Amino acid sequence: MKKLKIGFYGITGCAGCQLSVIFEEDELLDIINLIEIQAWPFIKELNYDKKFDYIFMEGLVADNEDKGILLKLRANTRFMVALGACAHTGCIPAYRHFTLKENYAHLLYEKKENIKDIDPNPIDSFVKVDYIIPGCPPDKNEIRSFIKDIVRDIIPKPYNNPVCVECKRNNNSCLLDNKKPCLGPITRGGCNSVCTNNGLECWGCRGPTQQGHKMQS
Ligand code: SF4
Ligand code: SF4
Ligand code: SF4
Repeated sequence: MKKLKIGFYGITGCAGCQLSVIFEEDELLDIINLIEIQAWPFIKELNYDKKFDYIFMEGLVADNEDKGILLKLRANTRFMVALGACAHTGCIPAYRHFTLKENYAHLLYEKKENIKDIDPNPIDSFVKVDYIIPGCPPDKNEIRSFIKDIVRDIIPKPYNNPVCVECKRNNNSCLLDNKKPCLGPITRGGCNSVCTNNGLECWGCRGPTQQGHKMQS
């Protein structure tokens, strides 16, 4: 079987998604023989000019440098996977698109020469995205199972039930009943309702339920 050539890259983000693929030894051994690693965070150095089957991209597009890297990698890969919430939805930085600047201006860094105000956008604003692995950060078991599916030529199945399904299965009392906010009803589950299990509201990191895991074929 020909091994798939795989690379992990990051543009603007916190590196948390890339840290999600720092597997334990047994987890890495589980997949290492199935794929040809071209770029792997903190293990194998970056080379944007290689040819890939799959690129897993962390982060959002914040400036022209991000955009240039993204376009180059898209041209060099058969499939592009948005890895994590920043790549998928723009995550917290992109919330600014839904409010007025006066509501967040006080949160911005003081204007310094080397710090630019950015215009954050998810990667599908610029390139075709074939798959999403959602979450902030994404679950490493989900990443591993995604890789095991694609090497067997199986289209990874989207999890489209809302977070509430797992939350109820976990016997949590509903935050909405206690007049607390929660985005669980409209957020794609698959995280085993990790936040609401611990009394925290779901803030929607896995994106809306109706969006398919495989965006285009
Ligand atoms: S999705 Fe979350 S973990 Fe991943 S880069 Fe963005 S902020 Fe960091
Ligand atoms: S706490 Fe949130 S996720 Fe859980 S059932 Fe209520 S609305 Fe749904
Ligand atoms: S409960 Fe909501 S915010 Fe928490 S991990 Fe799941 S989808 Fe993300």
